[in-house]
Amino acid sequence: MNPYEHKHLRFTYQASIVDFDFPNGWWYPSCPKCNKKLSGGEKNYTCMDHDAITSLPVPWFRLECIVTDGEDVTNFLIFGKTAENFFGSSAHHYVYDKKFIDPSVLPPAMAAKLNKSMIFQLRFGAFRSITNRCEVIITNIFDDTTNKSIHPLETPTPEPKSSATSKTSTPLSSMK
Ligand SMILES: [Zn+2]
Repeated sequence: MNPYEHKHLRFTYQASIVDFDFPNGWWYPSCPKCNKKLSGGEKNYTCMDHDAITSLPVPWFRLECIVTDGEDVTNFLIFGKTAENFFGSSAHHYVYDKKFIDPSVLPPAMAAKLNKSMIFQLRFGAFRSITNRCEVIITNIFDDTTNKSIHPLETPTPEPKSSATSKTSTPLSSMK
């Protein structure tokens, strides 16, 4: 699938988040007007579009979700309002009210989202030359109510990859 031909395509994916990846922190100080990342540091915050800000910067979610469907592992990007809905409150609330100020330390309420089966709605984002692929942006996440179990990452399927039928069906346990 060519991401450039499907820029406006939305697609869904069933997976669970095994970890979060946030080398630059799970939140960043954003412009109160446009939520772009501010530069210049704490004493001199500047927005590329709005110059020096006149109020406090707004903490804004931005982190990668490392997800697996039991076979493949990939990264999805989540930020802004989607992350607020998913994590149940704003980054502002986490940082200023709950005092999770350190962007390198994940609040437990966010970590509680790991290893649960979810339905992701996704779209393609910008091309990243570092990974040589388009980033995939989460536009929505739902709890997977179908309860189809996802095999944990730690237990790889014993079948060789060359096998024609790689899908194994999990037997329904204890049918009474
Ligand atoms: Zn701005």
